[in-house]
Amino acid sequence: MNESVKRTLESLKRNGVNAKYFEGSESAVNYLMNNIKNGETVGIGGSMTVKSLGIPEKLIERGNKVHFHWLAKTPEEMDEIRYNAVKADVYLSSTNALTESGQLVNIDGIGNRVASMIFGPKKVLVICGINKITKDLDAALKRIKDNTYKNARRLKLDTPCAHTEKCSDCRSPQRMCNVTTIIERKPSKTDLEVIIIGQELGY
Ligand code: SF4
Repeated sequence: MNESVKRTLESLKRNGVNAKYFEGSESAVNYLMNNIKNGETVGIGGSMTVKSLGIPEKLIERGNKVHFHWLAKTPEEMDEIRYNAVKADVYLSSTNALTESGQLVNIDGIGNRVASMIFGPKKVLVICGINKITKDLDAALKRIKDNTYKNARRLKLDTPCAHTEKCSDCRSPQRMCNVTTIIERKPSKTDLEVIIIGQELGY
């Protein structure tokens, strides 16, 4: 574990957030699966990290009721799933950035993901690759803006950044940057845990 990860883990714990580090994704996923009970419902935010680790499939296979809007077939179904995810027992997400002071920094278009990370589900598990750790808040916001175009392209959105790879603080109807949240300390009604994995995951 490098010094930056050590500082981040210590900060998170000081902020009242449970924090764990795993060198590889396999042990992290096993830990996560053991932390979700068989009967619990699970909401999942739009996250390449969670998807790339195969977690939705593992939970569904095990019999957990999973609310993950990326599995929906229609926009109406997507919205229904987003509402159910906010009320799930457990919520899984990544974070757009995590500072060495333990701040979870996120920018969202709709806001369902950031809302669910703060209030609703009793337990929130955030999975974070080491590529998302930044020195401070300025670096976190820059990291997010520098990478938003990748999500815009993945979602086939017609935003300026999807074409130029740069943010122009647009007024596009499909703008992805409508809500910015900084979780500074453990939200008082939510059992928040951050699982850092020692590899690059997500954007
Ligand atoms: S504000 Fe617009 S251009 Fe800038 S990153 Fe967000 S969606 Fe892209």
